[in-house]
Amino acid sequence: MSTPTAPSAETLATAWLALLAQTSEIVLLADGRGRLMAASRPAHQLLGLTASSVGQALRPLLGLPPGASLEGSVVLAAGMAATLRCTPLPSRRNKRALLIMLELAHGSPATASAIYREQRLREVTLTITSALEIGQILNHVVRLATDLLGATAGALPLYDQGRDVVIPGSVYNLRMPLTGREQYRGTGLIWRVLDAGRPMIINHYDADPEALPDLVAQGIRSIAAAPVRAGGSVLGILILYDQRPTMQFTASDMALLDAVARQAGVAMQNARLYETAVREGNRRALLYKASVELGAVLNIDHLYATIHRAAARLMPCDICLIALLDSARQEIEYVYLADGPRRWPPHRLPLSRGLLGFVARTGVSLRLVHNDNEIERWFGAEPFSDTEEEPSPGALLAVALNVGERTLGAITVQAHAPDAYSSEDLEALEMLASTAAIAIQNAQLFAKVQELATRDALTGVANRRHFFELARSELERAARYGHPVSLLMIDADHFKVINDTYGHLVGDIVLQAIAGRCRNALREADIVARYGGEEFLALLPETSGEQAVQVAERLRDTVAREPVLSAAGPIRVSVSIGIASYERGAVGQIDQLLDYVDQALYQAKSTGRNQVRAYGPTDTVSMPEP
Ligand code: GH3
Ligand code: MG
Ligand code: MG
Repeated sequence: MSTPTAPSAETLATAWLALLAQTSEIVLLADGRGRLMAASRPAHQLLGLTASSVGQALRPLLGLPPGASLEGSVVLAAGMAATLRCTPLPSRRNKRALLIMLELAHGSPATASAIYREQRLREVTLTITSALEIGQILNHVVRLATDLLGATAGALPLYDQGRDVVIPGSVYNLRMPLTGREQYRGTGLIWRVLDAGRPMIINHYDADPEALPDLVAQGIRSIAAAPVRAGGSVLGILILYDQRPTMQFTASDMALLDAVARQAGVAMQNARLYETAVREGNRRALLYKASVELGAVLNIDHLYATIHRAAARLMPCDICLIALLDSARQEIEYVYLADGPRRWPPHRLPLSRGLLGFVARTGVSLRLVHNDNEIERWFGAEPFSDTEEEPSPGALLAVALNVGERTLGAITVQAHAPDAYSSEDLEALEMLASTAAIAIQNAQLFAKVQELATRDALTGVANRRHFFELARSELERAARYGHPVSLLMIDADHFKVINDTYGHLVGDIVLQAIAGRCRNALREADIVARYGGEEFLALLPETSGEQAVQVAERLRDTVAREPVLSAAGPIRVSVSIGIASYERGAVGQIDQLLDYVDQALYQAKSTGRNQVRAYGPTDTVSMPEP
């Protein structure tokens, strides 16, 4: 089976012995005629081995992938391609040994080597393209290409076309200078290959004026490199290094390297598409989750925090600000300011100032790679800029909150790390913002409906229904904690006369003024409500009957002292006030308290009006000043 150009059996055996010395397994080599050529150990040990363990040890030494079949594989031996033929040896003690023979290929060494390379390239392609993780692909490519061309070492730095920099990728068997650092445009081999767009060989690298001293110091003498391309763009450079003084990369090596680089390009492209698809899928799932969550939140403050959380799941988010447009006042109100775990109170800026004012005004989406001081320079001071801290350099996204044609405001997320956001992140934030804007609008409408349902439309104080809701829980609390509670009933005196004299509209103004004076004279915790017509109620928590009389007297005085200013001129008005109280720990119902307070008010009216009367033991009367 040997060819005339084949090396002698002795040369072959020597080469194989060197190879086999590296394994502790026992391999017997025979030539095509079954003649024993070499054995790694004395033959008697052969019979202690199984065929499969021989194969396991042999594959990496022959440069075959783990699963590859030994039988029929083409390997290089002493510069020649040979086919492996494996024959199990007769078993002894139930163990089998393997007889491995080399069948030298026909034809010239060049054809033989081409057949070998062809087969290896197929294996390389299969291995490279079956990986989906980009780091794994890079490692496979570099390793396999190095082995395939019998080089000493290999590397695959990546190229970022957008920024025109070379980024460290995978390195095999070499100490790389400048490891871990980006390289800007230079004149070295990498840039020559990138610019030429085709493979290159430098066979006397150590003599090259642009050689990297670090590589020369490691004994590198020849280099072959090919661009890794996908579509129209260059993704990286596949480089092989060799230390052997006699070794020269040939044109066929360069063609083979180019073929591997092409496969690598396809695999990297696939991996990127796959990664994008996975990321896109995750993003969709997160956005869907966010829209479900946002739709369920009606409390506006919870809503802002929910939007923040949703953004933080989608992208880096050290700072999150939400601002709403106040068109009437031409202002932008930062309603949610989160810096890490810290929250800041709402903050207003003129619409002409600040980043989010700009975004809300123009509807432009922004992505800043390096935040630095640009924001301040372009848009004026931001809410955080009053603080002592340095403005954080980093990256930023900002998009408008739109519902249809209407702009509600804007949102920004910021990261301390520069260049933290991709254009896909900006797209994701835009999608989140459209859901968030609808949720904000819903929450605002809900708050308005709530307001309408609980407030009296004319005077703005609580309506009767809402008063009863609040009063019931307030009375329960007072009973539970043994606190006193008082109720005032406030009725405008001779209000019919005001209406008759000035008209109903002016009467309304007077009612609004009375409600306003009630609010001003009472505490925040007191519940003021319109009971009906020109009657108001005020529930005073933690106020005894005695204290209530003082409060009511102050209120009566406040109303009577100043006339109400109206279009019809100043109008004098007074109120009569009835008081009923539950003292410490007394348990009672609001209906009963109302009954008492009504009786007290009747007393105040029937004894001359513009006065305060308390029901029961605190039988206090106050008379108007003469
Ligand atoms: P008194 O001192 O006994 O309370 O006399 P009064 O005139 O205030 O009492 P009365 O209950 O007889 O009249 C209440 C008037 O308040 C009658 C009604 O027209 C007027 N009124 C009730 N609701 C409104 C309102 O929403 N706007 C206006 N302008 N007037 C109202
Ligand atoms: Mg009245
Ligand atoms: Mg009345």
